Amino acid sequence: MSELAYPYEAPASQALFDRAAAVTPGGVNSPVRAFRAVGGTPRFMVSGTGPYLTDADGREYVDLVCSWGPMILGHAHPEVIAAVQDAVARGTSFGTPAEGEVALAEAMVERVAPLEQVRLVSSGTEATMSAIRLARGFTRRTKVIKFAGCYHGHVDSLLAAAGSGLATFALPDTPGVTGAQASDTIVLPYNDIDAVHAAFAAHPGEIACVITEASPGNMGVVPPLPGFNQGLKDACAAGGALFVSDEVMTGFRTSRAGWYGVEGVVPDLMTFGKVMGGGFPAAAFGGRADVMAHLAPAGPVYQAGTLSGNPVATAAGLAQLRLLDDAAYAEVNAVSEQIQGLVTEALGKEGVAHTLQTASNMFSVFFTDGPVRNYEDAKAQESFRFTAFFHSLLENGVYLPPSSFESWFVSTAHDERAVQRIADALPAAARAAAEATA
Ligand code: PLP
Repeated sequence: MSELAYPYEAPASQALFDRAAAVTPGGVNSPVRAFRAVGGTPRFMVSGTGPYLTDADGREYVDLVCSWGPMILGHAHPEVIAAVQDAVARGTSFGTPAEGEVALAEAMVERVAPLEQVRLVSSGTEATMSAIRLARGFTRRTKVIKFAGCYHGHVDSLLAAAGSGLATFALPDTPGVTGAQASDTIVLPYNDIDAVHAAFAAHPGEIACVITEASPGNMGVVPPLPGFNQGLKDACAAGGALFVSDEVMTGFRTSRAGWYGVEGVVPDLMTFGKVMGGGFPAAAFGGRADVMAHLAPAGPVYQAGTLSGNPVATAAGLAQLRLLDDAAYAEVNAVSEQIQGLVTEALGKEGVAHTLQTASNMFSVFFTDGPVRNYEDAKAQESFRFTAFFHSLLENGVYLPPSSFESWFVSTAHDERAVQRIADALPAAARAAAEATA
């Protein structure tokens, strides 16, 4: 077993991490899980109930990651579990159409007005990859505009100046993406509509689409400035391009109709994942029926998936969406505001320079004087303070995203007891952040 870096570290997790490292690159199946940005041993979780996760050493944490967004009703919600058990008992994959996928698509179309048709896939990455292909096929153009700090999954052409794990590791790009793939991507600063107009002017008739996170959460939470998304929509309409709003993170989380429900800007195409899968691998893209009609088998743009519309995943997603009524969103928003207030108070008391930014119930803290409007601003924060803050909270039973470039997530299950544990842990964490040195 390797040496423990922190006195409170968890030996059972460390033993599992050592085993994992022997058979899996870096010991994890998704990079941010490895704790490299903050150091220490990643916690291997064995169970989740409501707002809590329990690790292999038997320690319980209040979970402020919620599986990076999906678990908006908390872990193991009884009605979601019942729907899953019922579906599993009837078979786990048919490779044929089934009613569950129709019902999930109907539920999505009913909630999100611009969604006239949807196609189900298995991950957010697949959703954005397919939406880009469709936009290119529909417009017969090649170039795609994306924004620095926005993450759209690990789609080759979109791994330029992406946020999330890439922000964490400060990789400007990634080996394995060819020059040709990258050269069709135009990366612009977020919240800069003039840069978008200039790009359209420089590439007349070449831009297939603009893709943006509806409200970015992958460089920390950096909401669009008022009018920015509408400006993108207008620039696309004027330039003959499609406006693709990536709601993988915000969809069915920031409101009943996602970020669209907050802002009301109508995209041509949208992408979804996370909440709509109820903790299972389900995702989707959709939008204008005339654009979606270009998708196989209705049209020529190919797209497919062995497990697309999987009956267990669609049952989980549908059960979760049915439970997400206005009252549920009011609950998540209220608990989010409560925790935001506690964080601001604790850091303020210790005089720690910070900016807390929100997008509905999504929020994150930047260790810098704000505002944070784009990726450059986000990178200027004092991440070493986050590291100290993170470890102090972890030691006291609060599980934050292990990176300062990620949104924090809460759920309807975050009750008074869970909030109290956060409140109890925050003063020491704020002190640790204040005392941290680079
Ligand atoms: N788009 C956004 C906005 C995301 O936040 C993510 C994942 O975090 C993705 C796409 C990719 O989704 P997945 O991890 O399911 O491939």
